[in-house]
Amino acid sequence: MTAGVRRSLDFAVVFVAYVATAHFGLSFDALAGIATTVWPPTGIALAALILRGTQLWPAVALAAFTVNLTTGIPLWGAAIIATGNTLEALVGAVLLRRMSFDTRLGRLRDVLLLVGLAALLSTVVSATFGVAAAALASLQRAESYPVFWVVWWVGDAMGALLIAPLICVWAGPVRLSRRPLRWLEAALLAIALTAVSMAVFRGPARARAIELIRGTYAIVPLLIWAALRFEQRGVTATLLLVAVIAVTATSSSGTYFAAHTPHERLLMTDCYMAVTAVSMLTLAAALAERRSAIGVRDEFISIASHELKTPLTALKLRLTAAARTHRSPPPRDAAAEEKLARALAAADTTTNRLVSLVDDLLDASRLTAGRLVLHLELVSLPELVSDVAGRLREQAAEVGSTIEIAVPPSIVGRWDRSRIEQVVTNLLSNAIKYGAGKPIRLSAHAASGRLRLDVADEGPGISRADQSRIFQAFERVTTANRVGGLGLGLYIGRQIAAAHGGALSVDSRSGHGSTFTLELPLEAPASGATFPTSLTRPRF
Ligand code: ADP
Repeated sequence: MTAGVRRSLDFAVVFVAYVATAHFGLSFDALAGIATTVWPPTGIALAALILRGTQLWPAVALAAFTVNLTTGIPLWGAAIIATGNTLEALVGAVLLRRMSFDTRLGRLRDVLLLVGLAALLSTVVSATFGVAAAALASLQRAESYPVFWVVWWVGDAMGALLIAPLICVWAGPVRLSRRPLRWLEAALLAIALTAVSMAVFRGPARARAIELIRGTYAIVPLLIWAALRFEQRGVTATLLLVAVIAVTATSSSGTYFAAHTPHERLLMTDCYMAVTAVSMLTLAAALAERRSAIGVRDEFISIASHELKTPLTALKLRLTAAARTHRSPPPRDAAAEEKLARALAAADTTTNRLVSLVDDLLDASRLTAGRLVLHLELVSLPELVSDVAGRLREQAAEVGSTIEIAVPPSIVGRWDRSRIEQVVTNLLSNAIKYGAGKPIRLSAHAASGRLRLDVADEGPGISRADQSRIFQAFERVTTANRVGGLGLGLYIGRQIAAAHGGALSVDSRSGHGSTFTLELPLEAPASGATFPTSLTRPRF
């Protein structure tokens, strides 16, 4: 499918879905014919702009304008409302994309972002434009403007809370289960939820026993079942099922939320649905985070065992060779002495590798407990860099890389020497490991009391998606040729930089090498900085 056809198709789908669901929403006793507490189009527009890009906004604008023309408001009024509806979707989508919102809703931060930025905030725009249009057009209203505004806002917020997550989490590829038991379980859940929701919201005709025990709490265990067993997709689908039953029940005589007017009943239903949706989406995200943390832990155990086992095996071989030479009856000739010395030197190198791996693990655990202490002293940067580069030159030469250094001789800072050495060592070793044997350049300059140190390589680079990930603990980019490592160096480096009041970042494009930049104040704050308490994921 060409890009043009795809765009037109996206446009048509958004337009049709928006108009159809808008008519459904307006059928619920809309105030002045335009404000309703049931407004799925907000969710459709938001999801479309997040998933398919903000350039789809004309589809939203045209659909909103078309819908409003049918409500009897003058042309200019429909244009104002459509502008509000479009801006609402654009504000929500742009803010969420800026905050790297993940549409799978597998993290608590994504749920909180959706609730805060889209459901609560962006909907203010549309409600305000809508009320302004109604006021300017002097529409006949049964309610005051504040009530009118609230009805509009709640309707849009519900769209953002129920429909946007549904579309977002179902948008990816769907793999249908081949296990009949899983289908049976899904069917049982759907039947149970429909039956209980009908009993709760519609009320059974004259069934006094059920009447006495009916309450919305009865739905909660079934939604938890959906979250535990069917994850985000199960939760969003079951929430929609309950919402449809609850909303359509507001016009029946036995409705659970008894109130004077239909839209008061709808507002009560919406409040119930909003609390339930936020709770269930949060539960599903917390469960997903737990699963992901367990996955990271298991992967880490396997990587760590492999990383520790490799040098240990080498160490054992070298020590066995040394012991064999040592046991050979004296006098030993020069060649045997030389062999013994080489075996011991190699054992020493391997031990250093093991020590540095274990040090990384200890640092990671110190960071988790917030126990990394800085020992500040005056440090000459050129000396530090030349020490580190001197130690790594041999390793670089082995893979065919050269290390070029451009550091002015005058740069001196108050830092923790061994910690900064650790960061520079990690950046240079990474450039050697991942730099494809091409030249490596380390440069630095100081201005306005801050140091900027760049380590640039000409390796394969790092994709945008991986760039934020690699600074998290145990995160590595999987490539065809496996290079050893625990995925802790950059995580530790960033925390050390932050503790000095600085930062560690990367600038890279796939195929065009990477430049890691360490920025530090020349005078680090004496108190050090606070450390995160989570190793695996940044918290919102
Ligand atoms: P490790 O090197 O032990 O895996 P790091 O935290 O130092 O841990 O690096 C994390 C990941 O970032 C690496 O696994 C690698 O995929 C990627 N990476 C780091 N430096 C570079 C670089 N210079 N070029 C390409 N990828 C890099």
